Amino acid sequence: MIILLHIKLNCKKCNGISVKNGFQSNGTQRYYCKSCKLSQQKSYVYKAYGKHISYYIYKLLINSSGISDIGRVLNISNNTVNKRILSISKQIKLPIFNETNQSYEVDELKVSPMNKYWYVTYTINKRTKKVVDFIVGRRTKENLSRVINTLLLLSPKNIYTDRLIVYNSLIPESLHCNRKNQINRIERYHLNLRTHIKRLNRKTICYSKNLLMLEAVMKIYFWGDSLSWS
Ligand SMILES: [Zn+2]
Repeated sequence: MIILLHIKLNCKKCNGISVKNGFQSNGTQRYYCKSCKLSQQKSYVYKAYGKHISYYIYKLLINSSGISDIGRVLNISNNTVNKRILSISKQIKLPIFNETNQSYEVDELKVSPMNKYWYVTYTINKRTKKVVDFIVGRRTKENLSRVINTLLLLSPKNIYTDRLIVYNSLIPESLHCNRKNQINRIERYHLNLRTHIKRLNRKTICYSKNLLMLEAVMKIYFWGDSLSWS
């Protein structure tokens, strides 16, 4: 009986019985769960397995740390950081807004000179300064209309934009304002983004190589505070 206890392990995923199943390349005993078919070890030496590592990644990411910075601080590999960022962003649910008759500002932020045609187009509530919707990618009519359509569903009072001509065809004239000095709040928000997100910093060698990662990082920055980190 004692021997049985020694060779078996309760699965960390499904709490089923795992049996010894060979060794890892570094010589550690490997266990295999018969019910969920997961291979696992009794304990791990790699830091990325730690419980709070996702929280630290989130905190560093929104405080102007790049992928390599996070990797060096937490002593985990860049690939792990990338994977974790994608998985954190997948956990974030899109916020639901139940507001009507509000004013919104829409603007586009150029990502960096390295990403020639990439923009972060987003919209904030003029009063609460909450980000309602965003899209990353080229500044096409199709992309912009997705952000604008989200706003139109909220039956807004006004929509403030810059003088990009595309907006004229997307926003009804009665709602649209594109005079000068009307989008001060979102322009200020741009500065926050440029300061708090490493890949949007100006005059650095940091930039996004992948649109998917950029989208994930923006989503985490805008709505990551809704996640629970217990
Ligand atoms: Zn299992």
